[in-house]
Amino acid sequence: MTTTSYKPDLLPVVRKTVSSNADYGRSICCPFHSEKDPSLHIFENQSWYCFGCGKGGDVYDFLGYLRFGDSWNSKNKEMFREISRETENHSCAKVFIDNNMKKQETEISDETKKTFLWAAKTFHETMLSAHDADSETARNYLLGRGISEKTIRKLRIGYAGRSELHKKGLSLTPEKRAGYIERMKNAGFIRNGREYFINRIIFPNFTKSGTVLNFTGRALGNSTKRYLNIPNVRKNLYLLELSDPEKELYITESVTDAVSLQQLGLSAAAVNGTALSRQMQASLDPYKKIIIVPQNDSASMHAACKWCETIPRCRILLPEYIDGEEKDINDILRLEGEQQCGFKLRNAAEKLMDCSSYMKTVGNKFL
Ligand SMILES: [Zn+2]
Repeated sequence: MTTTSYKPDLLPVVRKTVSSNADYGRSICCPFHSEKDPSLHIFENQSWYCFGCGKGGDVYDFLGYLRFGDSWNSKNKEMFREISRETENHSCAKVFIDNNMKKQETEISDETKKTFLWAAKTFHETMLSAHDADSETARNYLLGRGISEKTIRKLRIGYAGRSELHKKGLSLTPEKRAGYIERMKNAGFIRNGREYFINRIIFPNFTKSGTVLNFTGRALGNSTKRYLNIPNVRKNLYLLELSDPEKELYITESVTDAVSLQQLGLSAAAVNGTALSRQMQASLDPYKKIIIVPQNDSASMHAACKWCETIPRCRILLPEYIDGEEKDINDILRLEGEQQCGFKLRNAAEKLMDCSSYMKTVGNKFL
């Protein structure tokens, strides 16, 4: 399976083809609209975006727009062939492109896909089970955090009890049991002879077409690891695949913050931690309006500064927290309710900060 490819290095190609530009580093005056100050930025992940006219893409798109203007369409085979022939004449260095992120859905085997889907359904049914005290604790935990039953059903949030999958296995005939355990092991639900998710709220990461890309489990009781990701598959932005690239996308650190924003009708995705991997950055390429929502603590604000460095086109939303009590969006939802939380978010959205002012003002305190 091909998961990688080589493309001409974007920056030298741009410098070679748009020679009249003064050296602004990674920002240049856009050749696709008329301007005096540079607003086209070339990102380190081999993509570019013009903040003035909104054009963007990869090296082929850059050359494509230069050659064909607005009629450029990277899916048009003839146009694409002409542009890739052109790149051969550039004799520029080629760079290694990791396409794994885009291929993730096809990378997961059909059998694992089936197992993931089955597990998501099983965990969700367990969450909704009326006859299980642990399930009730799990439901009450979410409800107590302001996450509604409607949201639990919509995002198919689940609960992995103490031995859910084991019990399912025992209900099978001995002939079927061996295959079942093998499938659970391959998909990562059984590790070192025990269930991987025990007493955890399960957040399955669905695509629009209903495939589950990965799972995150949040511990309910005491655990050394509060969040666990299913092993063997790539960690990616939670809920991103359900978001419309044309709309504003809110990026949070925590899964529950993204769930809270979704409940309020906004498009949101969670990094689930502070490390925004290259693959995650690449998956954000189609999203032009990205809004980072840092938590109300220095570690999270520090992380937001790092994200600003890698996605300089994003903006920052800083809601008004009740000091000492609220540390994130979910706290506002939990303590002040949906209406007030929505109100605070709309208010904050009117005063979005751009990356550089955020890094200068808020960020400098922590860097
Ligand atoms: Zn432009």
